[in-house]
Amino acid sequence: MNSQKAFKKAQRFIPGGVNSPVRAFGSVKMSPIFIAKGNGSKIYDINGNEYIDYVCSWGPLILGHAHPKITSAVISAAKKGTSFGAPTVAETELAEIICGTFDSIDKVRLVSSGTEAVMTAVRLARAFTGRKYILKIAGCYHGHSDSMLVSAGSGSALYSKPLCPGVPDELSKLTVIADYNNIDSAAKSFEKYKGKIAACIIEPVAANMGVVLPKNGYLANLRKLCSQNKSLLIFDEVITGFRLCFGGAQTIFKIQPDITCLGKIVGGGLPCAAVGGRKEIMDMLAPCGNVYQAGTLSGNPLATAAATATLKILKNEKIYAKLEENAKMLEAGLLLAAKNNNIPMIINRIGSLMSCFFTKLSVENFSDAKSADANLFKAFFAGMLKNGIYLAPSPLEAMFISAAHSKKDIAKTLFAAQNVLTRL
Ligand SMILES: *Cc1c(COP(=O)(O)O)cnc(C)c1O
Repeated sequence: MNSQKAFKKAQRFIPGGVNSPVRAFGSVKMSPIFIAKGNGSKIYDINGNEYIDYVCSWGPLILGHAHPKITSAVISAAKKGTSFGAPTVAETELAEIICGTFDSIDKVRLVSSGTEAVMTAVRLARAFTGRKYILKIAGCYHGHSDSMLVSAGSGSALYSKPLCPGVPDELSKLTVIADYNNIDSAAKSFEKYKGKIAACIIEPVAANMGVVLPKNGYLANLRKLCSQNKSLLIFDEVITGFRLCFGGAQTIFKIQPDITCLGKIVGGGLPCAAVGGRKEIMDMLAPCGNVYQAGTLSGNPLATAAATATLKILKNEKIYAKLEENAKMLEAGLLLAAKNNNIPMIINRIGSLMSCFFTKLSVENFSDAKSADANLFKAFFAGMLKNGIYLAPSPLEAMFISAAHSKKDIAKTLFAAQNVLTRL
């Protein structure tokens, strides 16, 4: 069976043939490839084609596919039972690592997805402040809970309506939108909804409208605004957590949020995510407090084993310097290839998180990101795929470089890019 046939069959039984929309290759108008296996920096489709993978499961696989230490941690956990719905010491071990890594986190609750982490953070913020409104930043993606599907990035950015059908107006009205990198826009919202905003939630480095870095002082000013207005600041570090350093964007930019959401890397490729913050906020959660939150498989042994194994490797091996070096090489090579072929290209990058935008103008917010040339991206994506390079199938997503990517992988990627860009 080839990928096209597999996709046809999948569409009979699964809406759109996929279990998460962006996988369908809709924004590049192609048929998705079906994956048979992955190893290190490579994935293999069901026809046996090999690709260098820059999606890495959309971020979690910072150590590459099927890392032997993680695989064996998962196997040995599985042999002892996959879930008990009762506490295990492994959960405390993981929670202790997370709390020890982030100054802003005294306590952490483990959940199974980034969506859940954010949903819980929002509920906590509302309960803690007794307020209803949430200030969200346009183009940031915080998972698919009702309140967060307003002007969101990632897969949802492809749907032209700003609101998702099925989310009641009454609810989406409680989500107020400000522009990324625009402190005046946030200040206006705080003014307009004075005393009503429970929290501002943001991806401190936006990575779901493509990668967009915060301007100098933007996050510090947002922190100040939140404190002045007695609102909480929620950092959604589902992508940036353990991606930029052993810590998060908050470590790099030296900003203390009140609540932090983690996911992706923190789960080591299995469904595990986390929401953490100051003790007095976190202790509002049941069973200490009366803010209800629960999960049958939360902190299950498999996810916890993968998570802890990943974090231990990230902590003890010198991985971030290598990631920076390889990502820098990729950035420089892509820019050179674009320049040699007179193709307008801007790259936004921080560590191993980067995006290329086909535009001449700098990309500082959602509308800049959306104004890049989607057709050029589409052609670039298709060409790269043909040359064995698997990029995210959408212009508004990030590229993820893993520790499994070698200099040889980067060189191959640049060779392919040179070839493809020449023909655009
Ligand atoms: C992926 C992502 C989420 C949602 O996580 P899921 O595990 O897909 O529910 C939330 N926030 C950010 C910043 C993300 O990138």
